[in-house]
Amino acid sequence: MEPRLKIAIQKSGRLQEDSLRLLRECGIKVDDGKDQLRAQARNFPLDLLYLRNSDIPQYIEDGVAHAGILGENTHLEKQKDIQPVLSLGFAKCRLSVAVAKTTEYSGLQWLQGKRIATSYPNSLQAFLKNHEIKAEIHEISGSVEIAPNIGLADAICDLVSSGSTLFQNGLEEKEVVLHSEANLYANKQLDPELTNILRKLIFRIQSVLEARQHRYLLMNAPTNCVERITQILPGMKSPTIMPLAVEGWCSIHTVIPEARFWDIIDELKASGAQGILITPIEKMIL
Ligand code: AMP
Repeated sequence: MEPRLKIAIQKSGRLQEDSLRLLRECGIKVDDGKDQLRAQARNFPLDLLYLRNSDIPQYIEDGVAHAGILGENTHLEKQKDIQPVLSLGFAKCRLSVAVAKTTEYSGLQWLQGKRIATSYPNSLQAFLKNHEIKAEIHEISGSVEIAPNIGLADAICDLVSSGSTLFQNGLEEKEVVLHSEANLYANKQLDPELTNILRKLIFRIQSVLEARQHRYLLMNAPTNCVERITQILPGMKSPTIMPLAVEGWCSIHTVIPEARFWDIIDELKASGAQGILITPIEKMIL
């Protein structure tokens, strides 16, 4: 039987949708895990295992799953012997210590001897130890942010992205314990055939991630402005320049990092560019 790479993804929760979207953008056809624990990709040698987020590191270490998608925070918390393979650019968040807005927080030393509620005791413990703080860690599995309001703790340590949950609960972020995003992890002893499938998957994911971070840019400009415009463009190599049917004009095409577009658009216009178009790229192979 042909080997198939078993990839663990979250059964339900924040990471599932983005994980499935990424695999689908890689051209891999899979069903979502609503009523099943396992799904076979139809056009790639890959099986998905839908598992509880916190169990995934152990399954990868044991080789039950060959690889998996998981937040770095879960990997750091569980401390399993698995291999980080690729950052995936979603589920960006930080694990932070927060206290009630009304607290007169004077800095890290304030945490000395305090009660801190968290679902991430190992990460918090390592952070406190690093800063020589002794505090009582209360491990709770959910709704951590209500702990100070009900008198269960003086502070919390939880995941934050926009900060709106903290705000709604009258809390303020004070210390960042770690930054996290979703990563692809793999078992450390994959055989050559599985490693080969994993490599193919990584290649596809990288081309999707590159494409997401770039845009294709087209514009028209008078020929005598081309030199100035090409100096502004942070292209992959040099831009493509083609003459237009109208004498003295050309069309300039290039690829730019998505994050730079709004920085350079005014400069392009001021340098004579007109009819500027910017379009997404589906896949990008470097
Ligand atoms: P959950 O679905 O809440 O169990 O969270 C699963 C994973 O999603 C966590 O381990 C984090 O890596 C990530 N995550 C959790 N909360 C957030 C958040 N507020 N913003 C972004 N990512 C988060």
